[in-house]
Amino acid sequence: MRQNPHKVFETYLAQHEGRYTSQKRVIVDTIFKIKHHFEVEDFIDTLRADPLHKLSRATVYRTVKQLLDAGLLQKIATRDGRVFYERSVPEKHHDHLICNSCGKILEIKEDVIETYLEQVCAKMDFAPEYRSLHVYGQCGKCQKKAGHSTS
Ligand SMILES: [Zn+2]
Ligand SMILES: [Zn+2]
Repeated sequence: MRQNPHKVFETYLAQHEGRYTSQKRVIVDTIFKIKHHFEVEDFIDTLRADPLHKLSRATVYRTVKQLLDAGLLQKIATRDGRVFYERSVPEKHHDHLICNSCGKILEIKEDVIETYLEQVCAKMDFAPEYRSLHVYGQCGKCQKKAGHSTS
């Protein structure tokens, strides 16, 4: 069943601090319009491009952390320390292959992984809430580049 992110976040906030402010609503609305992986700093620039949104940096960072906690965002870190986020939609769940050389992030969605993890969790009597599977390595382009430079 598809859940409304506002409802999910409102429930989460009610359990934690209790207030779903209009500022947070703007942040959630904007984040859920982004369809790719984004960095918080770029997101803040996007928000600030609209003078109506007088949001402090601290509010944005705190809200992003809460959204992550509420399972509405997924976090992807690259080896050089950059952190990307993307909205987490259960029925579109996917994993990531991250290139250590160029930082490219590839998405993988394999039914066999989904099924396997479901079975493992059931077997271990574990109720999954959040999952993040990252594979770090070299993308095809970077492998070719490395091959040329050493030969
Ligand atoms: Zn690469
Ligand atoms: Zn992704």
